[in-house]
Amino acid sequence: MANRLASHQHTIVEPVSTSGVGLHSAAKVNIRLLPAAANTGVVFRRTDLDNFEIPASWKHIARVSYATSLMRKSVLISTTEHLLSALVGMEIDNVIVEIDALELPILDGSALPFVRMIDAAGRRRQRAARCYIKILKPVEVVERSKRIAIFPSGPSGDAHTLIRVNKSANSHGVANTSSRAHSAETRSSSGFHITSEIGFAHPMVGIQSTDITLCAATYPREIAPARTFGFLDELDQMRDMGLIRGGSLANALVFGPDGLLNPEGLRFADECSRHKVLDLIGDLALLGHPLIGHVVAEHAGHAMHTALVLKLMRDRSSWTLVTSSDLADELGHDLAANASDFSSETAAPELAVSHAGAD
Ligand SMILES: [Zn+2]
Repeated sequence: MANRLASHQHTIVEPVSTSGVGLHSAAKVNIRLLPAAANTGVVFRRTDLDNFEIPASWKHIARVSYATSLMRKSVLISTTEHLLSALVGMEIDNVIVEIDALELPILDGSALPFVRMIDAAGRRRQRAARCYIKILKPVEVVERSKRIAIFPSGPSGDAHTLIRVNKSANSHGVANTSSRAHSAETRSSSGFHITSEIGFAHPMVGIQSTDITLCAATYPREIAPARTFGFLDELDQMRDMGLIRGGSLANALVFGPDGLLNPEGLRFADECSRHKVLDLIGDLALLGHPLIGHVVAEHAGHAMHTALVLKLMRDRSSWTLVTSSDLADELGHDLAANASDFSSETAAPELAVSHAGAD
């Protein structure tokens, strides 16, 4: 069954703003999302630097370590992944993001506040057709035990994915809510599917995996609320590196030796794994178009995500741009082909006669 794919581009209806602090810089920052014309994409605008613009594109990927940063002509925009993830998840193609500092606000550490902003702004359909990057052949980046790969969607693409899919439970034995039954259907569809696995030595995290087909219905519920996370014994070292100066229990999960420090607890048993998927979606947004393909990530982080983006963009034979009507045509051809296969096996002689008569 085909996944529902938006046929047209979308922007927001009206401007919407919020403010907060940057996770790493601790700088106070205001951001405002503005509607944008079709084919604009997502463009950051530094209002503190004469409205200097940096498109959210693989062409401007800069430093990537604990967050993803974009740079154009030595102007930076940092920690772009959560907002970009929300925009992809909510199927917003075109928007201007005004920002008056170098780092996006961390807010509660998840993408949920951005989802609520987008909801408040409203979603407006535009006249232009939405273009998708359709994966044609596998592309993979491997670094020791880390791996990220992207495969074509659909039955032919899935036959050779060789994924260690969905171990289905984390260290607590809690089953992932992203269901296997769901994935069995969606795997064979034309959409954006993600299978991700993480592994951390902490007993409250352990090995977790998430398996999801992304759409505007699943993202706000299953992925957006998952918060960024860290481990108490790494925090001093990160601060020494100039990172997480704005970090607190209000915007990150922190795991200590005796358990989670956040008094409110987890939003999902596998919240860490879901947050990695959130980040992955935000980093893949730098492709500039929504994806039709299946991403498989094992212990990957921002550096691996962006390495995949760059490898994919450099291998022009691995993907093509399609609209949803191109896909409908393809599906039509496939159905016709299947129908004739079926007919030739079951009722060939009679069909041959009737064809001869009809022609
Ligand atoms: Zn994150």
